[in-house]
Order: sequence, then C-alpha cells, then structure tokens
Amino acid sequence: MPTKTSTPSSQSPKLSHLRPQYIPNHIPDSSYVRILDTTLRDGEQSPGATMTAKEKLDIARQLVKLGVDIIQPGFPSASNSDFMAVKMIAQEVGNAVDDDGYVPVIAGFCRCVEKDISTAWEAVKYAKRPRLCTSIATSPIHMEHKLRKSKDQVIQIARDMVKFARSLGCNDIQFGAEDATRSDREFLYEILGVVIEAGATTVNIADTVGIVMPLELGKLIVDIKDNTPGIANVIISTHCHNDLGLATANTIEGARTGARQLEVTINGIGERAGNASLEEVVMALASKGDHALNGLYTRINTRHILETSKMVEEYSGMHLQPHKPLVGANAFVHASGIHQDGMLKHKGTYETISPEEIGHKRTTRIGIVLGKLSGSQALRKRLEELGYDLKEDEVDSVFWQFKAMAEKKKVTCGTIGLSTATVKLVNIDGSTHVACSIGIGAVDSTYKAINLIVKEPTKLLDYSLNSVTEGIGVNVTARVVICRENNHTSTYAFTEDANYPTFSGIAAEMDVVVSTVKAYLVALNKLLRWKESFRCA
Ligand code: MN
Repeated sequence: MPTKTSTPSSQSPKLSHLRPQYIPNHIPDSSYVRILDTTLRDGEQSPGATMTAKEKLDIARQLVKLGVDIIQPGFPSASNSDFMAVKMIAQEVGNAVDDDGYVPVIAGFCRCVEKDISTAWEAVKYAKRPRLCTSIATSPIHMEHKLRKSKDQVIQIARDMVKFARSLGCNDIQFGAEDATRSDREFLYEILGVVIEAGATTVNIADTVGIVMPLELGKLIVDIKDNTPGIANVIISTHCHNDLGLATANTIEGARTGARQLEVTINGIGERAGNASLEEVVMALASKGDHALNGLYTRINTRHILETSKMVEEYSGMHLQPHKPLVGANAFVHASGIHQDGMLKHKGTYETISPEEIGHKRTTRIGIVLGKLSGSQALRKRLEELGYDLKEDEVDSVFWQFKAMAEKKKVTCGTIGLSTATVKLVNIDGSTHVACSIGIGAVDSTYKAINLIVKEPTKLLDYSLNSVTEGIGVNVTARVVICRENNHTSTYAFTEDANYPTFSGIAAEMDVVVSTVKAYLVALNKLLRWKESFRCA
C-alpha cells in the first residue's frame, strides 16, 4: 500500500499514489479504482450526439490527458464509421505509452455474437492493451421478451462467446450483465461464475435502466462477492444510469462495497438520462476517498476535467445546464449577499472544492457574480478592483442604483415578417461564397442563404435558445439539431431499426442571429465530415 498524505482538501493526483501496474484481472493495490470512460460509446447514444471519427480521436487524446485507465471508444460492429474510429484510436492513442508506462486500455464493445466479437477484435487489436467488452442481458424480462432465450441458452452463449474472444488471442475480456440490477440473484452468480471460468477478467454489473437504490446496489455487489465462484480473481465493475438522478451515488456505493472499475462518461451524457458522470465520481473520490471511503483513489488528473468537459459539450452538442455540478457555468458562482460576504472573508465558508483543481481559472465568472442578490460588500470589492475608492455613503448610493439596474429584465426581440439576409462564408481553402435570401424572420432568411451556398439538403429537427447573464452582458446560446433530408440510414445493431444520424451544434454570442448561424454551421460541418468519413470507410 502506498503511504497516504493527510491533506484535508482534495488534491489529485496525489504524488504518493502511483498508478499500480496494469494486470487485466488484478489490481496490486486494493484501494485503487479504475476509471472506464464510455463517453464515445454510451455517451454517443445520446440523441443528437453523433460524433465523427476525427472528433472521437480528439476526445480520446483528451481522455489520455485525464489519465483514464480504459477508453471505450465505440461499438465497432454498429457502423463502418464506428469501426474506423475505434481502430484509429487503438492504433494511435492505444500505443502512446508515457514515461511512467501509462497507456490506456482500448475496449471495443460487442454483443455476445461471434461476428460482433471478431469485428471488435479487428478494431482494437492494434492497441498495446486491447480489451473486448462483450455483453448480454441477464434479467427475466430481457431474456424472455428481447432475446427470447431460456436461462440455459443464455449461459451457454455467454460461456461460448467468452471462450471465442479468448480464442482470438485476447487476454483482457470484460463480460457485461445487461440489466443486472433486475436479474435473479442466483442466476447472476451462476452466469458470472461460468464466464469467469471461461476466461473473463472483468465482470460488469449494469444498472441499465437506472432503477437501483444505492443501498441495494451495495448489497448486490457484496452478495456477488460472497456467492460467485472465482470472483476474487477478477475485477468487479459498475455501469450506472441516471434515470433517478442516482448514477453518481450508486457508482460511489459500488466502489465502497468492492467494485474496482467504474464506468462513467464526461458530463454524464448517455442513453436517456445519461450515465454516471466522470467529473462527479472522480471528484467525490478525490474529496472523500481518504475520509469516508477507506482510502479509495483514482489517478485521474483532475486539472484537465474542465477542458475535457468543454470539448465533449461542443462535439456532442449536449449543452450543460448552468447548475451542472463542477462543470456548469454556475457551479462555483456565489450570488447571494450572505454567501458573497463569507467568500470575501474566507473562501472555505462556501467552497469545499477549489475550482482551480478541475481546471477553472478564477475570474469574475468563477467566484462572485454581481446581480440583484449581491450585497454591498461584493460591489465595494469590485469597485476597488476597478480603481474606485468610495466612501461608505457613496458605496451605499451606488449600491441602490446598481440593484435597481440589476432587477431590470433584458429582452431580446425577433423580427416578424419578411426579412432579407446576406451571408458570406469562407471555405477552408480560403475561397469566399456570398448568397442572399428572403425568409420569414432573420433566422429563416439566413439559413436559406447558407443553404444556397452549401447545397446540402438538411432538415432542422430542433432549435432552442437560452441566455445566460454574464457580468452586465447577455450571451445567447443557440442549439440546433439537423439531419440529412434524403434520409441516409444505417442500422442499430441491437434492434435492427433504422438509425437516422443527427448532428447538433451549439454556439454562444451576444447577438441572437450570429449565435444561431454559428450553431447551424457547426452542425452542418459535422454532417459534412460524417458524410466524408462514411465515403472513405
Ligand atoms: Mn449503458
């Protein structure tokens, strides 16, 4: 066991905590928790979050800066472009060994189907540490209605497919029990015992529908440890969804009770209500690992969290609510007068994690924001910073004028009726294109002008605006989701349903039309890049 420092605040990575040597089925330090990031697989299953291979590669490089132990970059048999993305990441990111010997495991997702497994292997085998994550549902409702297989058949398939993965030369095999939290206990012990005997090195307990309570998940992990043959020789993993807002709590409880791999996504994006978020899970362990969790720790370099979050927000188009823990715009902003007064006297009054630790820079946005709830001390401080040294009664008088102004609402008006727009776009080769068009309102006419230049038939599926006050200005964030008009489809491997790839873009500007146009161009560029990669693949 490495020695522990006793710093009360979260300091990560701790120098005394070295990353233990990577062995698929064993962690030499029992307090170490592996982080598997599935932003590029489960996260991409968020509606509108389709990413291009190039975007996935950028995010994978960023995940390396964070130091995640395992990257799950996709589902290779789901589409040709996902296969290419996973292969590219395995070849590049999966071979970039740093001075400390760290290189992420690259894990391909696959069903318990031979073709899926061999396709996933073809994509990940180039990595220094390739892993296959094969998964099958184990709950009665899934086995009966989705798989239409008996318990014995499911056990047989699981055993055969883990052996098949082994036979390809893979020695790092994760078996996932889909819908494990609604599975029959005895059946779960049996199937996990069978796959461990067949060669699985990690077993993943998925709360696929996000229905478990923290206490229940903890009990499940303990029961699995007590009753599954061979479980001491493998790593237990959790995969929690956020349908009840409990994904982080469940994940932490899983770690407390014995899971040593946690599956998470950046910003918590993922199917439906999303997955457990990397930043919340990692910072919970960093803040409380020593005090409340028997010294559990990760080797995530937390200072890269914010930039990773921003990159995923931009590429996925999944906009963060301002009060998202740790990475939301307001996560470290103190607005009430009482809180601001406390913060000015001692940061520890209202701040338990310092924003710098996850990569925030302390500016006006991170710290104190002046608004209608601010007190006079915060205003005085800001005036001092601006070089005004006012007397007490002067501060008072300015303060009441300031409050009156802060209470006024800001209004943005749209144009109704016919509107014309002229748009000039610059191509990456430097050539410029100009078009003008008439439409109903400024946004419509501008989009039509862009379409005249780009000539890509698209359909606007979703469009939204929201404004965040920053200082005295208002930033308008536009989000658009588009798809191709002529319905180029691929197929979801699980359901065989047609899959219409959608692309989203977000942009924030002071001007509503400018942010709307920029958001549209982001989405349009993604669509064009995706089309390009599809053609190459
Ligand atoms: Mn999932």
